[in-house]
Amino acid sequence: MLDRVHVYFQQMASQSADVIIIGAGIAGVTAANKLFASGYKDVKILEARNRIGGRIHTVSLGPNACSVEMGAQWIHGGGDNPVYCIALAHDLLDHSNVHDEFAGAYYNENGTSVDKSLLDTVTTIFKETVEDMVDFSFSDSKSTLTCQEYLTNRMSTILSPISDAQKEEAANIFRSLLNILKEDCGDDLTNLSLRCNGFEDDFRNDDHTLPAGYENLLRIQMSNFEPDVIRFETEVKLIDWSEKENGMDSVVLKCVERGTEMTYTANHVISTIPLGVLKKKHKQLFSPALPAGKASLIEKLGFGKVNKILLHYEEPFWTKGNGGIKLVWDQAPKCDVGERSWARDIFAFKEMKHIDNMLIAWIYGDSAEQIENIDEARVGEVCTQVLRQFLSDNTIPNPSSVRTSKWCTDPHTLGAYTFVPSDCHYDDVGRSAKPLLRSSGKPTVLFAGEATHSDNYGSVHGAMISGIREATRITKWKTKQGY
Ligand SMILES: Cc1cc2nc3c(=O)[nH]c(=O)nc-3n(C[C@H](O)[C@H](O)[C@H](O)COP(=O)(O)OP(=O)(O)OC[C@H]3O[C@@H](n4cnc5c(N)ncnc54)[C@H](O)[C@@H]3O)c2cc1C
Repeated sequence: MLDRVHVYFQQMASQSADVIIIGAGIAGVTAANKLFASGYKDVKILEARNRIGGRIHTVSLGPNACSVEMGAQWIHGGGDNPVYCIALAHDLLDHSNVHDEFAGAYYNENGTSVDKSLLDTVTTIFKETVEDMVDFSFSDSKSTLTCQEYLTNRMSTILSPISDAQKEEAANIFRSLLNILKEDCGDDLTNLSLRCNGFEDDFRNDDHTLPAGYENLLRIQMSNFEPDVIRFETEVKLIDWSEKENGMDSVVLKCVERGTEMTYTANHVISTIPLGVLKKKHKQLFSPALPAGKASLIEKLGFGKVNKILLHYEEPFWTKGNGGIKLVWDQAPKCDVGERSWARDIFAFKEMKHIDNMLIAWIYGDSAEQIENIDEARVGEVCTQVLRQFLSDNTIPNPSSVRTSKWCTDPHTLGAYTFVPSDCHYDDVGRSAKPLLRSSGKPTVLFAGEATHSDNYGSVHGAMISGIREATRITKWKTKQGY
């Protein structure tokens, strides 16, 4: 009897599938969907969390249980963006609510409104400067300049059309607008490569919202999934891709599934483990270790830090429909900001048209990481102090509830999204997708996820395309083998 129990548990502790995908974010779910659509049924997804979506995470907040995004917010661009196409086909878009990055009421740190005509002039200069940075990146493919170096070198020329009397205020506006780019990469521009700044589509394409929640995009992809395709709370601890002496050429995954050790074997594994996690853990995750070239790419590529602060109010104190509130900080802190120094990295309290009474602030870099260790109520109090100062209005209420995302310390992400630092190139991002092959040429461990798409890294559509790419790599190989 005891032996039978032992065998039962041994069977329980080991499972196999033809293809195992690590991660049920958009890349993993799309890869599985593509494999099912191609007729391959023996596919499993192992997901460390107890939910789908990864960095797509829709939650219900406020008394009206509005759908709010803790991660991905917009579909960047329309046209043939696959995410846009699916959202359009399933009527998920709010066409009346196209995001305008520059919209809002602008205030100076001294509590005055920003001069409207100066703001318009500087905004135009800012947009032209971004275009120039993109043009420069195409003209000098060998440059190792960072975006910050480029801007510092040209700052006096950039602001030359402004009169001396307005130069200081114009510089403050320009620096504040730069936060838009910093939010885009999740880091200071001191680290961001000028030749690979990834801004080419910014401000040229529209950003679309999904009022009922980004997570619906995943549910559509999963509509054909059997209930047990995804194994939740199953964290892959070791990917053993060694060629075994007994000729067995499957990959062995050592996991912890709901607290119990578990082994999965597969012919092909698609890893969508985020770059932030790979940076910290690739040495312990892979056996044998990853080839030196791939390991060094993982270490070199940048993984930015971004968080959101969601502030819910009983009543809006701002003018509704305006886009929210924008902060134009002085160059040097006028007052001792002390423990609230992180707030200086907030540029916008954005209003979301489909969410009543809520402002959303984005925060990037070290400040994004810093707020994860601060009580959410305290984060809300500091935001109130800042808003009262900028709007010169001490009656601005505290938010009725505050929620902050925590992507930097989340063990299954460890950051927000990929950027290209000055010692890397777009091609490095593409090269990080190179699969691990058997001597037979069989793709054994494949890599998908936003960090593997050379043009569209850092985005939902980049992640989605990467999932299709790796599923196709497997189906092509199988077709070639006559499967
Ligand atoms: C704050 C924020 C705002 C953003 N805004 C936008 C936006 O507006 N538009 C846009 O296009 N993009 C945006 N992005 C980026 C976008 O969310 C990501 O590029 C995309 O969702 C990444 O998908 P993925 O499948 O590659 O990775 P993920 O979604 O991170 O999926 C990876 C999955 O792997 C799982 N996992 C990790 N390690 C293991 C393990 N060892 N074992 C098992 N499972 C594991 C994770 O739990 C996760 O579910 C934003 C991201 C953030 C953080």
